Amino acid sequence: MKRLNFTLDNPTVELLNELSEKYYSGNKSQTVRAALESLATHQGHDGWVITGYTQVMLDHDVQCHSCGLEHPEGRMLFKPVFERGKSPEAILNIPDEEWIECSKCIEKV
Ligand SMILES: [Zn+2]
Repeated sequence: MKRLNFTLDNPTVELLNELSEKYYSGNKSQTVRAALESLATHQGHDGWVITGYTQVMLDHDVQCHSCGLEHPEGRMLFKPVFERGKSPEAILNIPDEEWIECSKCIEKV
């Protein structure tokens, strides 16, 4: 355990008092810890994040992963590139089924 010293403005101090009274019987350390944990989960978790796309020439008919539209063999579509990262959209495992996106869907992101 470590004692930290930091400065908060009055509205934040009031909020901290209010929340700690309401949920943690006045324990401000516990309140700050809970607030940080909640922030961390909203910031995202470790997993696989799509960092880009590579082009693929379809050698068979494929459905777009996002919109489900069927695209015929010979079309140029896009395959996501996954990297380890932190994001609210991070997925735990790279899916082992085929993952192809059409250009319309990747432009929406
Ligand atoms: Zn699509």
